[in-house]
Amino acid sequence: MTARAEHVPVGLSPIALVVHKRRWYCDTPWCAQNSFTEQVAPIGDGARMSESLRDLVAVEIGDQLRPVAEVAATHRIGWQAAHAAFAGRADEVLGRPLEPVAVLGLDETRRGRPATGSRRMATGSLRPTLGTPG
Ligand SMILES: [Zn+2]
Repeated sequence: MTARAEHVPVGLSPIALVVHKRRWYCDTPWCAQNSFTEQVAPIGDGARMSESLRDLVAVEIGDQLRPVAEVAATHRIGWQAAHAAFAGRADEVLGRPLEPVAVLGLDETRRGRPATGSRRMATGSLRPTLGTPG
């Protein structure tokens, strides 16, 4: 049996792994699994991409924020496969316990004495509110 999986590209050249797997047969009469295929580490059962490419796809989508469709097209894999690689990694990362807090503080950016009046959020300009009409 031949398994083919997309792999991490070298430069601009796409790479595919082609592995010839042996099929083994069991002649024990009461065996429920009569035959099975040899397992090959870099390519999971029925997988269309190598584990290395799965990691790369997850990083490109999750860390580099590239669109799923673009990453899928780049690596010649389906959208669903690219998304599954990302989602698998995300589940793994989100499942980890949080690091203990080292520094706790307020998100306060003002320096010096507080200004009188209110600051407009969009422009940052100061509008006096005390002692002036309107
Ligand atoms: Zn058996």
